[in-house]
Amino acid sequence: MSNNLESYKDIWVIAEVDEITKKLRSITLELLSAAKKLSQDLRCKVGIVIIGQDNKKYFEEFAKYGADIIYNIEDSSFTHYDSQNYAQILIALTKKYKPEAILYPSTYMGRDLAPRVASKLSCGLTADCTAVSVKEGKLVQSRPAFGGNIMADIICPDTRPQMASVRPNILPKIALENPSKPQIIEEHFKAVPSKVRVIKTQKDKASEVLKPEEADIVIAVGRGVKDQKTFAFIKELAAELGAALGATRPIVENGLLGKNHQIGQSGVSVKPKVYISFGISGALQHTIGMHNSDLIIAVNSDGKAPIFNISQYGFVADVKKVVPQILQQINKLK
Ligand SMILES: Cc1cc2nc3c(=O)[nH]c(=O)nc-3n(C[C@H](O)[C@H](O)[C@H](O)COP(=O)(O)OP(=O)(O)OC[C@H]3O[C@@H](n4cnc5c(N)ncnc54)[C@H](O)[C@@H]3O)c2cc1C
Repeated sequence: MSNNLESYKDIWVIAEVDEITKKLRSITLELLSAAKKLSQDLRCKVGIVIIGQDNKKYFEEFAKYGADIIYNIEDSSFTHYDSQNYAQILIALTKKYKPEAILYPSTYMGRDLAPRVASKLSCGLTADCTAVSVKEGKLVQSRPAFGGNIMADIICPDTRPQMASVRPNILPKIALENPSKPQIIEEHFKAVPSKVRVIKTQKDKASEVLKPEEADIVIAVGRGVKDQKTFAFIKELAAELGAALGATRPIVENGLLGKNHQIGQSGVSVKPKVYISFGISGALQHTIGMHNSDLIIAVNSDGKAPIFNISQYGFVADVKKVVPQILQQINKLK
């Protein structure tokens, strides 16, 4: 969509609800907060699009985080995410209301949905952004490039809407003190028979364990953890603290933990209250996914390891010795 750029207005956020917990994903509120800030520069309104069932229970939160308009598409046939139907709805809404920019969550849903919409509307899309801003009236979509060595600022000068998917746990959530009452626009769509049919949904094993991107405490394991015994102790410590397990890429590649535990550039971003690393050097590709944590504690046998540059507490120690000692102390306190 390219002609008459001036006819496009407002910035939209695509909402996402966790299908299992039925709670709004935190990224929805992070995107709304970012959109609210951008809307001041773009002098426009913030719209949020929610497709699903029983959506009204989320409206108050949408208002609190800055939505001016809620586009509500509610039907029992949209209970589960479905690429074909969701994309068709968004394409139709975009053609009708002409938003100037759309922010998607960079989650499985957003990563699947955004490119489908972009290709049908022939507009640009920057995937996996870590920052969004406005310069000279255009959306600047920033993301790491060339292996994380540089940050690329990308703009779409000739097409609308300008679209970006943004990583969870990077942008802050900012609740408004005096939220206004959003306008609600109900739109109705009939689901088309999808090429993909959901026959049965079941939780995979990974969904039963605490996700690092959603946990308050993350214990992350690096290549300095060399033996199974120490790894078992770390798992025990995580269970004691109610922490999620995170990992660097080599640990995932070695099969010690699944891909959904990988933190960093090609994994997930985390923002827990406490992040504890054992045997992690602090390569940029890892720290880009955890440096926003509230409190960072690092254990590494090398006092010069870069992870110490971003840690509030650093312990130059051997993980093999430290972890059993921490467990002993916890047991004593019980
Ligand atoms: C395109 C690209 C994408 C990438 N994406 C990611 C990503 O998403 N996430 C990610 O993590 N990495 C990623 N990487 C890899 C990244 O560059 C690093 O190689 C990786 O993060 C290093 O992992 P590590 O810290 O576990 O290992 P190392 O760098 O080998 O560090 C191990 C550390 O353990 C310490 N140590 C050793 N023995 C002990 C001991 N007994 N006690 C305490 N400390 C000890 C050492 O001093 C060292 O600092 C990516 C790389 C590329 C090129």
